[in-house]
Amino acid sequence: MSRAVGIDLGTTYTVLAVIEGDQPRVIPNAEGELLTPSVVTFTQDEQPLVGLPAKLQAAAHHQWAVASIKRHMGSGHRVQVGEREHTPEEISGFILRKVKTDAEAYLGESIDKAVITVPAYFNDRQRQATRQAGFLAGLQVLRIINEPTAAALAYGLDREDIHTVLVWDLGGGTFDVSILEIEAGILEVRAVSGDPWLGGDDYDQRLADYLAGLYPEPWGKAFRQDRSLRQRLQEAAEKAKIELSTQPWAQVRLPTALPEREETASFKTTVIREQFQALTRDLLERMIPPTEQALADAELKPGDIHRVLLVGGATRMPAVQELARELLGQEPYRGLNPDEAVALGAALQAGMLLGQMKKTILLDVLPLSLGVETQGGLFARVLRRNIHLPAAESRIFTTAADNQTSMDIHVLQGEQERAQDNLSLGQFQLQDIPPLSKGVPRVEVTFEADVNGILHVSARDLLSESEAKAEMIARPDHYPEKPPLSLATSQGRAFETPRISG
Ligand code: AMP
Repeated sequence: MSRAVGIDLGTTYTVLAVIEGDQPRVIPNAEGELLTPSVVTFTQDEQPLVGLPAKLQAAAHHQWAVASIKRHMGSGHRVQVGEREHTPEEISGFILRKVKTDAEAYLGESIDKAVITVPAYFNDRQRQATRQAGFLAGLQVLRIINEPTAAALAYGLDREDIHTVLVWDLGGGTFDVSILEIEAGILEVRAVSGDPWLGGDDYDQRLADYLAGLYPEPWGKAFRQDRSLRQRLQEAAEKAKIELSTQPWAQVRLPTALPEREETASFKTTVIREQFQALTRDLLERMIPPTEQALADAELKPGDIHRVLLVGGATRMPAVQELARELLGQEPYRGLNPDEAVALGAALQAGMLLGQMKKTILLDVLPLSLGVETQGGLFARVLRRNIHLPAAESRIFTTAADNQTSMDIHVLQGEQERAQDNLSLGQFQLQDIPPLSKGVPRVEVTFEADVNGILHVSARDLLSESEAKAEMIARPDHYPEKPPLSLATSQGRAFETPRISG
């Protein structure tokens, strides 16, 4: 029987857990560590080196390493290695392969299936990219689940007194808020929100900028511009940040030799916690609007929350915990290890999917609305955010011009009224619409989002006998690099907001 494996593919660290007996357990990597740095570098012959060895090699050879690739998942970003370019999916695939191979060696058996977690706020494209990374690592991805949902699973569902849980997940690169209801073996996600561009890395960067500013020129400039010096500064900043979670001050010592110059500058400084908190106040405050949004979407007040769970390494910062107290009026729960909870929950979900443990029914929600572009560059929602998954919905659209025989179905994700302000997921064309007066044809556009939050879109002309039909599976290789031209300029193909309701 296949081993149930859960993987938390984090921005900063990746963690793999398996089910042993009926309990999940994190498996150490080849270096004996439970957390594998999500860092990749390449050897002279362009072979990937992953985790701690990559970090150490990069530090020893002043070489650039690929870190925080998760932030680029599903984008057109490329990593140049010699003559070759790597996609973020490939880089993540190297990380997944490393934890898979190490776990296989540790367990003495092969691993071919896994549940992988993503931030609740990941859009369709980023989820597809994560699935692809799993595939490249030789894994069958049983399911993609949201990190906060996995954390709630790890927290346990047998606590009768706790029904409504709010999860704050502040990792290296993303911030997620989820509100979940737990009752009688059913875990229902009520609302998700977040900021995909907020995480512990931003705190490191802020502190690194501040430290670079303390250097006289030309060192300050070198720290700002030289990639490997900048990386070392960032690492020193991260170390100080972590120390400041438990100590009132942290000392920063930096390697200071300047490339191609004889001179060195000795550099040592002390950062006090209050100073760090003042420097990063705006980053902390960015956690407030998504939290308020999730509460509003779930139609709850802070007083309705029974438990606040903190997940992700960066929630160890005292300022984050203080903000949780201030905003939600209670002491956050500390019983979960924020580094391991997500992987443990993912392993539990894998165990349930493989029939190895008692099932919990997961009712997840769509994190962002999905719809199509309509005439005038507007966005028409077909599936609303926070609808339970799986979900399917159809809307009827019509033509904007007389004798229009084709229609562009431009699929978007987001909450903005103007199409161009949302994320373009892809585009396909429905053809062979009979030439009729504008507003007469009826085209049914159907969106189906599965339990992984992955989307299938189809369009069907209802009026003609001829079956004009198109279907799009939102795969990463279908996505255009640039948003297509606005419909206002693609004459004869535009379509309008529904004239005929479905
Ligand atoms: P994760 O993506 O959950 O692994 O979280 C990684 C982030 O948490 C990184 O930005 C780490 O620097 C940060 N982190 C880990 N431990 C601590 C700590 N004790 N205090 C502050 N930040 C931490």
